Amino acid sequence: MTDRQNSSPAPIHIIGGGLAGSEAAWQIARAGVPVVLHEMRPERATDVHKTGFLAELVCSNSFRSDDCETNAVGVLHREMRALDSLVLRCADAHKVPAGGALAVDRDAFAAAVTQALESEPSIEIQRGEVAGLPPAEWDNVIIASGPLTSPALAAAIGALTGEAELAFYDAIAPIVHRESIDMGKAWFQSRYDKAGPGGTGADYINCPLDRDQYEAFVDALIQGPKTEFKHFEKTPYFDGCLPIEVMAERGRETLRHGPMKPVGLTNPHNPNVKPYAIVQLRQDNALGTLYNMVGFQTKLLYGAQAETFRKIPGLEQAEFARLGGLHRNTFLNSPKVLDERLRLRAQPRLRFAGQITGCEGYVESASIGLIAGRMAAAERLGRTLLPPPRTTALGALLNHITGGHIETIDAGPRSFQPMNVNFGLFPPLDFSPKAPDGKRLRGPEKALAKKRALSARAEADLRAWLAEA
Ligand SMILES: Cc1cc2nc3c(=O)[nH]c(=O)nc-3n(C[C@H](O)[C@H](O)[C@H](O)COP(=O)(O)OP(=O)(O)OC[C@H]3O[C@@H](n4cnc5c(N)ncnc54)[C@H](O)[C@@H]3O)c2cc1C
Repeated sequence: MTDRQNSSPAPIHIIGGGLAGSEAAWQIARAGVPVVLHEMRPERATDVHKTGFLAELVCSNSFRSDDCETNAVGVLHREMRALDSLVLRCADAHKVPAGGALAVDRDAFAAAVTQALESEPSIEIQRGEVAGLPPAEWDNVIIASGPLTSPALAAAIGALTGEAELAFYDAIAPIVHRESIDMGKAWFQSRYDKAGPGGTGADYINCPLDRDQYEAFVDALIQGPKTEFKHFEKTPYFDGCLPIEVMAERGRETLRHGPMKPVGLTNPHNPNVKPYAIVQLRQDNALGTLYNMVGFQTKLLYGAQAETFRKIPGLEQAEFARLGGLHRNTFLNSPKVLDERLRLRAQPRLRFAGQITGCEGYVESASIGLIAGRMAAAERLGRTLLPPPRTTALGALLNHITGGHIETIDAGPRSFQPMNVNFGLFPPLDFSPKAPDGKRLRGPEKALAKKRALSARAEADLRAWLAEA
């Protein structure tokens, strides 16, 4: 045996031992590649972490639905289990009763992840902050420093990507499944039929409100229950990203002169009556299955959001892929700055994983850590790992982050915002599921059958990808 065959590959460095970094470390070690995992806690804390454990859950103890037949996050659980996820393994081992959800004993879960990584001989855990760009000799790095990346590292990343491509707060407007919008009331049109750089002139879905509907809507916004900012979030009202309820509080006409202005649009269902106000929804993903409510970032509680927004004509039956929010959150404009293997285009030795890539949630962050780890290990071993198919939950989420999101269809602010996994990210089926007796399905039965079919397709396609990988 030659020296070269004897020597083990150089280590991959991971910055951040949260959900994504821990999962990435595990996957890389399992591929036979050494890892140095850099975690700044407990030496240096974040504003929300409380312990020195790796993979600490900072808020809820839930990994959400474990239903892999009709829920996209359940499908992601199934895929992560198939890919030997450490996070899912420890979650399964320390689950607590939570109905159809996978919830865990948070300390036992994080202790188990920490213990598994500490006992892995090819993983070295270094406690301490990486307070700037990694040294040049680290040639294969995963940055998984999360939504609360330390300021020194965030500044270094911002300098590399350009400040405009690294956000410190998300300003999330609700996203609606296209097929749940009533096009008998809404219509497609861009303001003044302008095509813009990437559009057609009919890129927005418009929902009209008359005066009474507008007044009732403003009342609901002002009176609706809101979430408070956390102590470390201050009040991040910035760049024209005011929550709609704050705009409504500033004056009853403010929204009508802002995101709800009724100009440059004609309602084809009622062309002789000018709407008093209009809500616009803009295509959010390349598939055209999701639409975001333009300018509707909000701190309303989720229940109040769904109730209030379903009062808008055309959105009475709206199914939300994501509800709105405004949080402290460090994340990249990934579709622009990352390649399809999660590497920074400007410096491909740096790969990103977890929430900093623009996914949202514990499970999603861990899953992107999982695939980033596998990709980094494959690269180190001189192999190429093809991204999982877009028809799988993991592939759909990865594709959303690295390219599925529509960047701009007009010259507005950047629109990429963090996203949970959901069936709206999956390519639509090329058939319509039928009842066992061959009859057409309708309503909730049809929606459920579609989800089952998307889940079955994801399972088959993941299996085929795994067999090739
Ligand atoms: C306040 C808050 C509440 C949330 N609540 C939920 C929830 O209830 N449910 C849910 O599903 N998701 C929630 N999230 C979203 C998100 O899923 C979690 O934050 C998740 O932990 C993200 O995983 P991650 O691995 O990307 O980051 P993290 O789990 O935060 O891990 C990043 C790690 O990097 C370390 N680090 C940062 N900078 C450096 C550095 N320079 N050098 C070394 N180490 C560094 C941090 O200490 C941390 O351990 C919440 C987020 C926030 C901010």
